[in-house]
Amino acid sequence: MFPFNELMDFKIEMTDEHELFRKSLREFAENRVRPYVQKVEETNEIPQTIIDGARELGLFGVGIPQEYGGQGGDMRTMAIMAEELSRVMPSLGTMVFVNHLFIDPVLMFGTEEQKRKYIPRIAKGEIFAAHANTEAAAGSDVAGIKTKAERTEGGYIINGRKIFITNSDRASVFILSARTNPPEPGKRWKGITTFIAEKGMKGLEIGQKFKVIGLRGEQPNEVIFDNLFVPDSNIVGKPDEGFKVIVTTYDYSRILIAAQAVGIAQAAFELAFNYSTERIAFEKPLISFEGVAFKISDMLTKLETARLLVYWAAYMADQKKPLFLMASSMAKAYATETAEELANLAIKIHGGAGVDQGTGVERYLRDSIITTIYEGANDIQRLTIAKTLLKLVSKSAEIG
Ligand SMILES: Cc1cc2nc3c(=O)[nH]c(=O)nc-3n(C[C@H](O)[C@H](O)[C@H](O)COP(=O)(O)OP(=O)(O)OC[C@H]3O[C@@H](n4cnc5c(N)ncnc54)[C@H](O)[C@@H]3O)c2cc1C
Repeated sequence: MFPFNELMDFKIEMTDEHELFRKSLREFAENRVRPYVQKVEETNEIPQTIIDGARELGLFGVGIPQEYGGQGGDMRTMAIMAEELSRVMPSLGTMVFVNHLFIDPVLMFGTEEQKRKYIPRIAKGEIFAAHANTEAAAGSDVAGIKTKAERTEGGYIINGRKIFITNSDRASVFILSARTNPPEPGKRWKGITTFIAEKGMKGLEIGQKFKVIGLRGEQPNEVIFDNLFVPDSNIVGKPDEGFKVIVTTYDYSRILIAAQAVGIAQAAFELAFNYSTERIAFEKPLISFEGVAFKISDMLTKLETARLLVYWAAYMADQKKPLFLMASSMAKAYATETAEELANLAIKIHGGAGVDQGTGVERYLRDSIITTIYEGANDIQRLTIAKTLLKLVSKSAEIG
């Protein structure tokens, strides 16, 4: 079973609490979110009533320890939330879990003071957070960022531009990456530092909004740093070691993108199956034709494979098994590509109705494509899998 060690490595456990939570999310998504889906597609804005509903249900506190004002909850709980919200409105899933791209690095690497200052307000849904890493010249290549932080008395002056930053127009707090020192030979990752910046600080501006093909209601913005002063107390982790802060954050967060993809795939499957039983062609329901029935069967098989990978990666993360890192990359690549495939098949099974924006089928394809790109494009996940394998056998080879 290389690279795994024992059968217990394949264990997945779900509890009654997980199931209760899933049911409450399903109810919320069906009753309080679904009625607004078409409106969000048209206006590109998530209505305040949905955000208020998510707040009332305590969703912004899920995955945050109680000592910092959250509800607690492990990676499986977080994955269930990402899946159930995304089954109805993937952009809402993103809006809720993208906060964790700030919360998780602060919890893992931040000071006690930073945790107490920011996390409880995010947990209560009073403020939003954003994570500003990607730049025009560097996305997958995190070490390639050009934003500069120069030493000054008591802190740093930051200059640069970040692109595609989700939630930045709503956010009150940001975690950002900047170069504090040039890369060292053979260690390009060195010399990056992560900082916290707050809305309202002089030199922090929100730039243009990007109009991306999917996730309507949650479009990212450009974030500009123009001589932004950030005090030393806002450094997250150690100076020059921010690369570790960024990539460790993604080790966990990509499980949530994978779970979001399972939600999308579930929705696509349900739409396709229902339509195949209702639509009559040549005097029979579509599913009576083998060509359609085989598609439906394969859709379900791939959906459940993706779901198992996601729950498995989340359970491994909860068990703190080191190979969760590889499992999360496997889940992210497989689940997001499955969502894209199933969304595409759902369109085909609907024929013309599938490409009519009024039916709500095609939106899942637009949303799923984004899941294959953000939080580490899928080929980067494949590199992580291959590099982990080589590390396990203590062999080095130049990949990537
Ligand atoms: C809707 C949306 C929201 C986003 N939100 C955020 C956010 O909140 N914060 C943030 O910091 N970023 C965010 N991003 C940015 C996102 O994380 C990046 O787009 C993603 O990491 C890919 O980087 P890139 O766009 O620069 O593509 P590139 O890195 O230029 O990659 C382009 C292509 O080349 C491939 N590629 C690159 N390098 C390799 C390699 N070594 N081997 C094989 N293939 C390779 C990639 O797989 C990809 O297919 C968001 C993006 C989108 C679309």
